Amino acid sequence: MASPATEVQPNASDPTPAQVAVRLDGIQKRFGDVTAVVGVDLDVLQGEFFSMLGPSGSGKTTCLRMIAGFEAPTAGRVILHGRDVTTLAPYERDVNTVFQDYALFPHMTVGANVEYGLRVKRVPREVRRTRVAVAMRMVQLEGFEDRKPAQLSGGQRQRVALARALVNQPSVLLLDEPLGALDLKLRQQMQIELKAIQQRVGLTFIYVTHDQDEALTMSDRLAVMNHGRIEQVGSPADVYERPATSFVAGFVGVSNTLSGQVAREVTGSDATFTIRPEKIRMLAVEEQPGPGTCTVTGHVRAVIYLGASTRYAVALDPGGELVVLQQNLTQSSMEALEVQGKPVRLAWDRANNRVIQELRGETEPSGSGEEEG
Ligand code: ATP
Repeated sequence: MASPATEVQPNASDPTPAQVAVRLDGIQKRFGDVTAVVGVDLDVLQGEFFSMLGPSGSGKTTCLRMIAGFEAPTAGRVILHGRDVTTLAPYERDVNTVFQDYALFPHMTVGANVEYGLRVKRVPREVRRTRVAVAMRMVQLEGFEDRKPAQLSGGQRQRVALARALVNQPSVLLLDEPLGALDLKLRQQMQIELKAIQQRVGLTFIYVTHDQDEALTMSDRLAVMNHGRIEQVGSPADVYERPATSFVAGFVGVSNTLSGQVAREVTGSDATFTIRPEKIRMLAVEEQPGPGTCTVTGHVRAVIYLGASTRYAVALDPGGELVVLQQNLTQSSMEALEVQGKPVRLAWDRANNRVIQELRGETEPSGSGEEEG
């Protein structure tokens, strides 16, 4: 098919074209007065499980729909495997989308549902049969071909939706909250299965979710979105251990941020920093931790017993509050609750402090921030 797509020349500093499956280049989207995506530059690499994580309304789905071709960007370009596809229709792009509601045809069998896209493309019958069989095997649903969607569990239906996308052999699979309709246990099981399928097939997955655990569990890398822009791109460990902004620190995990006067009393500097709750030890007030340690006193304001661990909210003497997470290696719920209201000393390795930048208002530049600390 003749296409208006043009080849894009790479810059010397970019990843090699062969590595980049999807590039968003200054992409923006306005709906009337609403700016859904303010300006996003992003490279998703070949074979990556890449997630777009952010709260409701942060622009994740709009980004995905622009990659799929369901929305046209107001500005910027979408580049697939080095080809500018910004103006191409969805069916002209080598991508497929899996939606949360599965969008299966209820009157068709599972086999017919999976085969449907190939029929539309007039793929010969023998080829269709082989490709459907391969796709059914990928999602481990062999033997279910003759059932109707209503005769399947939620997880099985989701796998049919996946098979229906995989059968088209797209180079990039877009997934929009595909596990959102499943209960927690099944969702966790499907997270592991999805990741295993992705690794087996070696496809590029771009996965939209507002669930931080899901994004951390499954992704090779993720982008954290807020108000239509990317606040940070990195591996799960990067984003969790070295949040670039206070928004990322709060959205991915518990915020635990100290700034200004309180920060100075603890670290000697006004710079805002974050410390993860599981890095903090809770000691008796009179205990003096060794060198290289940050320490602050306070009293336990609240105790939440979580079974395997306990979460303590500690009001600090200089002001502010920190959450501490401790594993219940030996203590019982009674022992955990006994410290409520008691004075304590908190201590943590100074190396675990992460200085973060504050993104203010709409005028700050987007993109991944530099970490310090
Ligand atoms: P969710 O997790 O709730 O799906 P999201 O991060 O995917 O949220 P988007 O669906 O991309 O967010 O929406 C971003 C913003 O754009 C929101 O303010 C939304 O109301 C607005 N928006 C999205 N689609 C349209 C549309 N077709 N018309 C007008 N506004 C829209």
